[in-house]
Amino acid sequence: MNTKCHFCGNKNFKETKVQYIYKHNDKFLIMDDVPCEQCEFCGEQYFEGKILRQIEEEFNRIYVQGKKPIKELRIPIEAFPAMI
Ligand SMILES: [Zn+2]
Repeated sequence: MNTKCHFCGNKNFKETKVQYIYKHNDKFLIMDDVPCEQCEFCGEQYFEGKILRQIEEEFNRIYVQGKKPIKELRIPIEAFPAMI
């Protein structure tokens, strides 16, 4: 898919599966095992547009149509200056 990494210029990529975090209006969807191409040098991840659209559709199925996801997490949120 890629010929050259936009960040480091490296030309070697590996096909892999990663966790992708989609955020929209402060709502999150964590998607596991998303196929991507990863730069072997800097680790930057590249996703096909088609795959990103599928994640967006799943986000809508869950948040708009009420589909039940396979798992839900409670996520703690902190503000950096208030950390101590
Ligand atoms: Zn790179």
